[in-house]
Amino acid sequence: MLFDKRKITVIPGDGIGPEVVSAALKVIEATGVDIEPEIRVAGAEAFKKDIESGVPDETIESIERTKVVLKGPLETPIGFGNKSANVTLRTLFETFGNLRPVRELPGVHTPFTGRKLDIVIVRENVEDLYTGIEYMQTPGVAQALKIISRTGCEKIVRLAFEFAVAAGRKRVHCATKANIMKLTEGMLQHTFEEIAKQYPEIESKHILIDNCAHQLAMRPEQFDVIVTTNMNGDILSDLTSGLTGGLGFAPSANIGSDVAIFEAVHGSAPDIAGKNVANPTALILSAAMMLRHIGEGDCAHDIEEAVLVTLESGVRSGDMAGETKPSSTTEFADAIIANLGKKSKTVGAHRDFRAVRISPSSEDVQAVETKARKVTGVDVFIESKLQPEQLAADLNDICAGTTLNLHMIGNRGNTVYPADDGRKVTLIDQYRCRFMKKARNDALTNSEILALLTKIGEAHTWMHIEKLQQFDGEDAFSRTKS
Ligand code: NAP
Repeated sequence: MLFDKRKITVIPGDGIGPEVVSAALKVIEATGVDIEPEIRVAGAEAFKKDIESGVPDETIESIERTKVVLKGPLETPIGFGNKSANVTLRTLFETFGNLRPVRELPGVHTPFTGRKLDIVIVRENVEDLYTGIEYMQTPGVAQALKIISRTGCEKIVRLAFEFAVAAGRKRVHCATKANIMKLTEGMLQHTFEEIAKQYPEIESKHILIDNCAHQLAMRPEQFDVIVTTNMNGDILSDLTSGLTGGLGFAPSANIGSDVAIFEAVHGSAPDIAGKNVANPTALILSAAMMLRHIGEGDCAHDIEEAVLVTLESGVRSGDMAGETKPSSTTEFADAIIANLGKKSKTVGAHRDFRAVRISPSSEDVQAVETKARKVTGVDVFIESKLQPEQLAADLNDICAGTTLNLHMIGNRGNTVYPADDGRKVTLIDQYRCRFMKKARNDALTNSEILALLTKIGEAHTWMHIEKLQQFDGEDAFSRTKS
């Protein structure tokens, strides 16, 4: 990786951001590491200046040069108009993987204290439902696209295994909902099972995401590294933060092929902003991850030890349970600085890290090649208040004299035509109407689809279509539920 070792971009951010970032910078400086922060703006301040993306050009320019960012939380305006500056940063710099480590910390009492939790969630960070591609299909029906690519799966799975190797970890779980979303979530499972064979020294196991959440509440000590899709990872990582003491202690790294962004998992916590009470640990531990990333592993190690020693000594931040007076943000950071160079008594505190190998970026369009492919049918989504039988009668009339048959009509994933008489489903005004070639071995052409759409459009409102494809003889679409 190419980056300037000494310059880093620092974004203080919103709410409690400036307080915790300044605490982290003080700690970094006290280690003696020779870095030069470039302070830049993003988030609320940028939105106030009508910068729609929430990230000004000067910030982008700095990140492109330094390749490394220490970032405070950025507020996401709720409602319409503004984008999330966090999503802008993640997508601009393609930070495809989000590492979220949590561990049991001395003095931070939780229902799991004593169980030595030490878990890292590796969350895919740029695909899935978070691409933000949403449509109103009818005035009462919304749709979001869940985009999962083979390339995205390979990158995140490889990151999980490479991280496990670099951090001396033993086991990687892959958590998906592949039993329901066989093509999207299933792609991560299959990719994981293939790539796992290249890491025989690491134990690998697939687990369904709902069972994973249950197991995390019941027996969290069984987990080491968990790799998962974007939304599952978002939820699981807040859960694991909760198991070990809350958001105030949860650091994270957003890893890309060229740029890495280090930040706390927590947000801007506006309720406690400006009061000097926020817990700076999450951002300080994120700073340690950053130092390790830029090759300053010893300083990273010193900071992690000092955090543990501080907590062992009974110093407590405002979000920790306890009777003693909590330290302010600045007092807490000063205590950590005073403990730099001391060794923690916490069992298992020490880990030897090697550099994590990260998949290189590529400007080529990524594609999976097939030997044979054809279109065998088409799903047309129609807005209609008709009952399924009436709609089917119309569509069967439309099909007469064409090369297509009406194969089925679905409504919210249920087959409602042909259907049993005992149907109980609540119908909505969005129907998925599947048309297949009468001669099942023939490929469906674009002009046949266009002719069908023209005929349907004369009598009905259609919103979108999906081609039903076969890749190497395998159907490339989900089977219908009945
Ligand atoms: P949040 O800012 O994480 O705060 C939730 C609660 O967690 C706070 O009210 C506070 O609880 C506690 N907390 C969080 N960090 C803490 C710390 N360092 N020390 C002590 N307590 C802490 O979540 P939110 O209220 O949902 O989000 C607020 C804003 O932040 C939103 O605009 C959101 O979009 C944004 N956000 C940004 C990021 C990011 O930049 N990566 C991430 C998440 C959210 P108490 O009430 O107990 O004090």
